Amino acid sequence: SPTIVWLRQDLRLADHPALAAAAARGGAVVPVYIWDEAGEGDWPLGGASRWWLHHSLAALDDALQGKGSRLVLRAGRAIEVLRALMAETGATAVYWSRRYEPGSIKRDREVKAALREDGAEVRSFNSALLHEPHTIRNKQGGPFKVFTPFWRHCLAREKEAVTPDLPATLRSPQTWPTCDDLSAWKLLPRRDWADGFSERWRPGENGAHEALAAFADEVINQYSDQRNFPGIRGTSRLSPYLHFGEISPRQIWAAVAALGAERGVFPASKGAQVFLAEVGWREFAYHLLFHFDHTPTHPLRDEFAAFPWRADEDGTLLRAWQNGRTGYPIVDAGMRELWATGWMHNRVRMVVASFLVKHLRLPWQRGAEWFWDTLVDADLASNTLGWQWSAGCGADAAPYFRVFAPVLQGGKFDGDGDYVRRWVPELASLPNKHLHAPWEAPEQVLTAAGVALGRNYPHPIVDHKEARDAALAAYQELRQGG
Ligand code: FAD
Repeated sequence: SPTIVWLRQDLRLADHPALAAAAARGGAVVPVYIWDEAGEGDWPLGGASRWWLHHSLAALDDALQGKGSRLVLRAGRAIEVLRALMAETGATAVYWSRRYEPGSIKRDREVKAALREDGAEVRSFNSALLHEPHTIRNKQGGPFKVFTPFWRHCLAREKEAVTPDLPATLRSPQTWPTCDDLSAWKLLPRRDWADGFSERWRPGENGAHEALAAFADEVINQYSDQRNFPGIRGTSRLSPYLHFGEISPRQIWAAVAALGAERGVFPASKGAQVFLAEVGWREFAYHLLFHFDHTPTHPLRDEFAAFPWRADEDGTLLRAWQNGRTGYPIVDAGMRELWATGWMHNRVRMVVASFLVKHLRLPWQRGAEWFWDTLVDADLASNTLGWQWSAGCGADAAPYFRVFAPVLQGGKFDGDGDYVRRWVPELASLPNKHLHAPWEAPEQVLTAAGVALGRNYPHPIVDHKEARDAALAAYQELRQGG
């Protein structure tokens, strides 16, 4: 009898244990994606993620058709859709890949119990992580809260192998159940803000492997030196593919291991080693989210819940940050890259996040929400970790009193100005010396470069030194209050 494979954040065919097990079971395979917005709990997909999902589902359907199969699309509550599909196809088993967000865990548990009560065979698999959070414990039997020992522990453990490939064809059910029209889900934006996304991205499994191949061919060996410079392509840009499961960390691990295999060297270079550790940060993020499931809205370090944030009643400060109009070029470049492409370089994510929580003293949750809506790689685990790291309130976080100075960060990591010039074109003609602090440039330099502060580019919305002092004072207040 047929097996339903409920696809979620595992939108690929290779290294797919649930699909492989369904094929091996012998009957027909019914791959389904369920559009169940309410089932995502407090974190329904943001706009940029919906754009990605639309294209990813189209790509997955194409790939399944290549195997003589197809992707069934259905909207509705997951349990109801799965029950209907079982009735329509005569399926007796439902397989899926596990998820780790608190809302998904709760929903999946309920679905599993209900289907088992109906008599179905229900199995779930690990397809998203090298090491699932419930399998990792520190010496005291608790979860890790510091990255280095966590990663050392992971490195010492055996890795799961990549799942064997699917057969050339997947058996179809006698009749295919009805399928929604993807466009009817209206995942694509009505306004054309996503035009720049299509230039930058190719969602789907093929796009993921192209990105990995380009990275492993050229960039990976320089990764440890170049990954902090947003003006060059020094990182893999695999994050959205990883989030949607179009490629797995097991596949990435295997590809990186193969690089030095001829010479018997692993990892093949310092770059490869540092890169794998970043994939390790993703694992760490999932570990923290799983074990501390209140952290998407609440700081892991509880004392930070009482932080004296600044009131921004009419939302002026938040909007200036969102729109890339803070007057700090590196911050504005990052926020505009995010809006235009759905992605932002990690170094700049740290700078803009620090700016929001320290210079503007606005709650990190407001930043996390904006990222959630605008990133194509929006991921509850990594986004929560990133924001709490930046706000100094998470596990193994940057200490709060370390305030990134945007002008220095700009000079250090975008010294030749390529990044700022690309995303803040109104400053493009300024010489490097003044590019990261236009308000310090002599009037004639600004005029020659066509920059009119307050007219075509904003004055800084806060003064760096004053903002820094106020942030540190607020931190002192928190510590004394606690
Ligand atoms: P690479 O440098 O090539 O790294 C390879 C992979 O490792 C990435 O694709 C990613 O899956 C993982 N990774 C790298 N750095 C981190 C990290 N610090 N934490 C967790 N995983 C990491 N990443 C997301 O995937 N989704 C998010 O929603 C997200 N929000 C963030 C918010 C803030 C405030 C900050 C500071 C960071 C956030 N990150 C997030 C982490 C990081 O910025 C991105 O993963 C990275 O920029 C993606 O680019 P890349 O694929 O080229 O990374």
